[in-house]
Amino acid sequence: MLTLLHNAFVCTGLPGGFYPDGAILIRGSKIVWIGNRADMPPQPEPITYEDLGGRVVIPGLINTHAHGGLSTHRCSCDDGDLFQWAAGLAPHTSHLTVEDNRRGCYLAIMDMVRNGITTACDCTRYGAGVFADVATEIGMRSLSGALANSPELRKTGRPNWPLALDETTEAMELHKGNGLARFYLGGHSPYSCTGDLLKEVRREADRLDLPFVIHLAENRRENQQTLEQYGATPTGWLEQLGILDERSVLAHCVWMDEADMDILARRGSGVAHNPASNAKLASGVAPVPAMRKRGIPVGLGTDSTLSNNCLDLFQEMKLSVLLQRVTSLDGFIMNAEDAFTMATIEGAHVLSWDSEIGSLEAGKEADLVILNLSHPLGLTAERVLSDVVYHAGPQHVQAVMVAGRMIFRDGQLLLVDEPAIRTAIHEYYATH
Ligand SMILES: [Zn+2]
Repeated sequence: MLTLLHNAFVCTGLPGGFYPDGAILIRGSKIVWIGNRADMPPQPEPITYEDLGGRVVIPGLINTHAHGGLSTHRCSCDDGDLFQWAAGLAPHTSHLTVEDNRRGCYLAIMDMVRNGITTACDCTRYGAGVFADVATEIGMRSLSGALANSPELRKTGRPNWPLALDETTEAMELHKGNGLARFYLGGHSPYSCTGDLLKEVRREADRLDLPFVIHLAENRRENQQTLEQYGATPTGWLEQLGILDERSVLAHCVWMDEADMDILARRGSGVAHNPASNAKLASGVAPVPAMRKRGIPVGLGTDSTLSNNCLDLFQEMKLSVLLQRVTSLDGFIMNAEDAFTMATIEGAHVLSWDSEIGSLEAGKEADLVILNLSHPLGLTAERVLSDVVYHAGPQHVQAVMVAGRMIFRDGQLLLVDEPAIRTAIHEYYATH
C-alpha cells in the first residue's frame, strides 16, 4: 500500500532540495518517490492520499547526544561549571536505579518527539537498553548504550563495566530485527576512564561491530588534567590509545587545538555539538566552523535536561549559529543552512546512520516532521530555512512520522497514553 503526502512545502535537507508543491510517496517504512506533485510518475498500485494543507515538511531532527534517564531530575542543579555542577548533582542522581532511568526516558522521549526529534543517541550509566525499549514503544528511533567508567576514577555509584557490555548484548538480542533500535558501546570520558578500560571497551565495540561513544574535551580543566597526567590533550591521548575512527561519536569537543582537529579529520570521527549545555556549564563554544572546514561531521545534541534544560533542537540550531557569531564577531561565520544540515543529515552521518536517515530521499526511511509554518510574504526556500532555524520551535510541530508511521499528531502522541504515563511518574515521585 502506498501513501502520498501531498500539498506540502518539502525541504529534503539536501542542498537546493526544496519542492514548493511537494509530495512524498511512502511504502512501508520507506520513501519511494519525492518531488513536485506534477512530476510524479503514474503509480500502478492504489494510493492513500494525505493532504498536508500547504504545511512544511522537513527531515526528522537528529539528537546526537542525550541522557534521557536523567529527565526526572531536571533543575536539581543549575549552576557551576562542569565539575562543580557534577558535584552538586551527585547527591540527587548517583543513587538512581534502572527504573528511575526508565521513567526519565519516558519523559525525555515524549518531549523529544513533541520537539520534532525522530532519532536520538542516548547515554546512561546503568540500563543500556532502557532508552531503546521506551523509544521503540513511543515510535522513535534510537542509538542507545551505557558509558563505562573506572571505579577508581569515578567514585560515586557502583561500577558499570562489564555490566554495560552484558546489558548491551542482551538489549541487542531483545531488539533483533527492530529497525528503530541500534546500540553502541562507550566510555564516559578521558577523566573517568583508565586507558586500559577505554581500550577494552573499544575492542568489544569492534568485536560487536558497534559505534563507540565518549565525552571529549568538554571543559578546560579536563584538558589541563589530561595534559598533566598523560602529557597529551584528551584527543591526543585517545589517539595514542587507538580509540578513534569513523564510528566514534565524540560529545562536546569544545577545547580542541589545531592538532586535535587534525586527528579527528584524519580518523573520520564525528562530533556531537551541544551549544546550550556548553554555554550553561560555562564550558565554552566548540570550534564548529574550524572542525567542519576540515570535513569533520558535526551533529547537534541537547545533552540532558540537567544541563540544558529542554530537549529542543530548534533552540540548538539557533544557538549554534548565534554563539559562533557572538564569539567571532563575524556575522557570516555560520548560517541557517549550516545549522539545519547539522541537525539532520550531518547528525545522521555522526551516528553512522546517514545511508538510511537524515534527509528525505527515495530509498531512505520516511522519518519526517510536518511544521505549521506560514510566512506573510509566502514560503520560499530561503524563508523556510530561515524560519526553521531562527523562528520555529516545538509549537510549530504539527506531526511527526518515523519509519512511515505517524507517532505524533495535533498535540498527541499516537502510540502511548502520554497523560497517563506523566501522571504515573508524578505519583511515583510524590510517594518515594
Ligand atoms: Zn553527556
